[in-house]
Amino acid sequence: MKPIRLVIFGRQGAGKGTQCARLVERYGIAHISTGDMLRAAVAAGTELGNQAKAIMDAGGLVSDEIMIGIVDERLAQDDAREVGYVLDGFPRTTAQAEAMLEVVGGPAGLDAAVELSVPLDEVRQRMMDRGREDDTPEAIQKRLDLYDAETQPVIDWFAERELLVKVDGFGTEDEVASRLAAAIEGALADC
Ligand code: AMP
Repeated sequence: MKPIRLVIFGRQGAGKGTQCARLVERYGIAHISTGDMLRAAVAAGTELGNQAKAIMDAGGLVSDEIMIGIVDERLAQDDAREVGYVLDGFPRTTAQAEAMLEVVGGPAGLDAAVELSVPLDEVRQRMMDRGREDDTPEAIQKRLDLYDAETQPVIDWFAERELLVKVDGFGTEDEVASRLAAAIEGALADC
């Protein structure tokens, strides 16, 4: 079996985490969430965690250099190479996207890039509702602003090259999961 290599984009609160869990179940791939990796480093009190904590709490972005290093290392592990992965929360900047494409061997090294699209008012509400410790109104606004400024250009880059599938992320978990599966299967059929 060929590995399945996916990238998922979406604002915080778009339901990426939940939908990634469904993709992991469906395809048996690894969930590579840079946010989860950083939170684990914070919890473990590693040097990386200590460096990242204040940035994360303020809704900022950890440096490209650090993030690229973490992801490079993770993509080189056996599970990612053999069964594939869904990358969640990375790339978030054009520098990260360029580094990632270099590692995977260009756009052909990815099977699909999907954007889970949810209206701004809805994600704002969902983030307030989930009440995570780093979800202060200021941090939420900063993350939304950074998404528009830094991540939207990456999404546009994929879209311009017809590498992006946009999936409506509004609806029940099951509805979104079926739409996502249909979009991915379409992209896999084109590979
Ligand atoms: P997430 O769970 O993806 O929303 O990530 C939580 C926080 O981790 C973000 O608000 C950032 O501070 C940091 N983070 C996660 N992924 C990245 C990334 N690719 N580049 C920079 N910072 C990141």
